[in-house]
Amino acid sequence: MTDLSTLRGVGPRLAARLAKLEIRKIEDLLFHLPLRYQDRTTISPIASLRPGDECLIEGEVQSCAIRFGRRRALLCAVEDQTGSITIRLFHFNKSQQSSLQSGKGIRCFGEIRRGPSGLEMVHPEYRLLQPGKQQPGLETTLTPIYPSTEGLRQRTLFLLTSQALELALHSVEELLPEAQLPQQLRAVTLQNALQALHRPTTPLSAEQLAICRGRVAFEELLAHHLSLQQLRNHYRKEQATPLSQDRGRVDHLLQLLPFSLTTAQQRVIKEIFQDLQQSHPMRRLLQGDVGSGKTIVALSAALHAAESGLQSALMAPTELLARQLFKNINTLLEPLGINVGFLSGGMNIKERRQMVQQIADGGCSIAVGTHALFQKDISFHNLALVIIDEQHRFGVEQRAALKQKGERGSYLPHQLIMTATPIPRTLAMTFYADLDSSVIDELPPGRTPIKTVTVPESRRSEVLQRVHANCLQGRQVYWVCPLIEESEALQCQAATDSAEEIQKQLPDLSVGLLHGRMSAREKDEVMTRFYQGKIQILVATTVVEVGVDVPDASLMIIENAERLGLAQLHQLRGRVGRGALSSSCVLMYRPPLSRDATERLQTIRDTTDGFEIARKDLEMRGAGELLGKRQTGTLQLKIADLSQDQLLIPLVEKSAQQIMAHDPLSASSMIKKLIRRWIPQGEHYHSTG
Ligand code: ADP
Ligand code: MG
Repeated sequence: MTDLSTLRGVGPRLAARLAKLEIRKIEDLLFHLPLRYQDRTTISPIASLRPGDECLIEGEVQSCAIRFGRRRALLCAVEDQTGSITIRLFHFNKSQQSSLQSGKGIRCFGEIRRGPSGLEMVHPEYRLLQPGKQQPGLETTLTPIYPSTEGLRQRTLFLLTSQALELALHSVEELLPEAQLPQQLRAVTLQNALQALHRPTTPLSAEQLAICRGRVAFEELLAHHLSLQQLRNHYRKEQATPLSQDRGRVDHLLQLLPFSLTTAQQRVIKEIFQDLQQSHPMRRLLQGDVGSGKTIVALSAALHAAESGLQSALMAPTELLARQLFKNINTLLEPLGINVGFLSGGMNIKERRQMVQQIADGGCSIAVGTHALFQKDISFHNLALVIIDEQHRFGVEQRAALKQKGERGSYLPHQLIMTATPIPRTLAMTFYADLDSSVIDELPPGRTPIKTVTVPESRRSEVLQRVHANCLQGRQVYWVCPLIEESEALQCQAATDSAEEIQKQLPDLSVGLLHGRMSAREKDEVMTRFYQGKIQILVATTVVEVGVDVPDASLMIIENAERLGLAQLHQLRGRVGRGALSSSCVLMYRPPLSRDATERLQTIRDTTDGFEIARKDLEMRGAGELLGKRQTGTLQLKIADLSQDQLLIPLVEKSAQQIMAHDPLSASSMIKKLIRRWIPQGEHYHSTG
């Protein structure tokens, strides 16, 4: 009895909507848990209300009138013994208008907002109270609000989950032996936890609810962790070509550098080289803040492959970055007689054919490029190492797909994935448990910290003056116009307009423009002129977000900074402060700022530590966003919340270890069931492993 269609009210159309929520069988409904609850069990005094609250109030209508303005609305003042609030209706009919008379008792449920004159509720659910009669009773359980999708009402989900609880709750299997649960979660069975989460009866304390949620979240996190562990064990059994122990040429190169490596760089190079000597493929994630010097690490690994007589491929996400990476690497390795090649989609046919040939016959030892490196017609002579740069969104699926690229018979290339977006430990444990991890936690010496200020849009002309003064001192400036519009075309238009405007205001300076609609060649030209100092102000969309390296650029202006996320602001800011010049970043914003935006701008102003910023980001946005939900698809957590459940992570790890160590056979059947329960749509990536 697992078929959804056996439930009352479920036809093909509803089934299709449910499938969008990954609900395909009755058990899935049981694990489709409320996002939150509405509390209609108590009436809140009006004086205690705060914007953002969702609550039930009761009072007396004081006045009711239509306000004609930009948008016609019916405004109704409601007062209780403690204070008053405005009810605002945009859509209303005659009978509503006449029924909301002063003196009437009213009960409303809705979200509290700050209005032009004090707090208000916009379109609350309301009912008028009958004088003299007994008032309707309050709810006795919290009202669950489920994650939903278009065309699926809360009421429907409520009825469906009610049926599921009745029909199927008793058959939900307790997969985890009690001994595997953390002490504090043993108080409740899985079935009881599910029941309580769907239909929390009052008085159920917040603490009890948290235990129930923790019980389910623990299982979910454990399922993800175990599945990635399995993947990792699987990779251990695969074969790769071990690189030689001799690293003479790498050491020689490092001696030629004008600087010495930081301790952190030395450490991660050692970690990587150890992996490269194994006969199973390296799968390592290298995290290092912007400017921490990941390129030289990548280059050392590639050179090491070359001195072992093997090829490597270095891939960057955009043409611009790939070209820059190529330039950096080629400058250092060409003098050593290493043939570094470049391949991207933007090349002409002849160049491309030549490159493809060299990759195939081994003439090219290190191929740098975009994803063009991994198109079907490209085959490497003896690819042993794949390095992916600036990959800040890299889900399990992409990792699995990459695995196949460069596969030669049963041999896999070693893989190094580099990211400047620090991944908090909690995320790393859960979603990157199939990878080993290295961290560059130190910046090269001599960098002056970037000074960041926030400035309202109204002071734009002051900002322009500052830009002018900076340029006269020989410095260069990035001027970033981020996503004001969803569409890329409009974004580019905005940047184009800004560039014209700035050029008009500062006619003695040279202003350049960079956006995603330009061809690779055009972008490259602009970037080159910026490197050479021929462009003083580079107006750009967020295409400059990652990787571009121009040491003399020491001032960055970000327009509409309030619209950007923390990670993106941090990345953008990382474009300056790369030389010895002291650098600054001006975040322009358009008031009024929401609470979130205020917090974001404050965070970015007060810290330059990427890990701290990532932690804050996780706290504010949740893991889905950080992982790039849309790109990773299957990596959504249903219940667990990585910032809220941080404390569970070490317990999950411990439990996973115990499970694996205990009885491998029964463990494997349990793990299978756990994975089927929690990651059904992800099974394919486990089986590709
Ligand atoms: P990212 O980690 O952001 O890719 P890069 O590898 O581009 O950083 O390095 C940023 C800059 O720092 C480059 O100009 C690079 O030459 C320089 N650099 C790297 N390592 C060191 C070091 N140990 N000492 C001084 N400068 C370094
Ligand atoms: Mg880089």
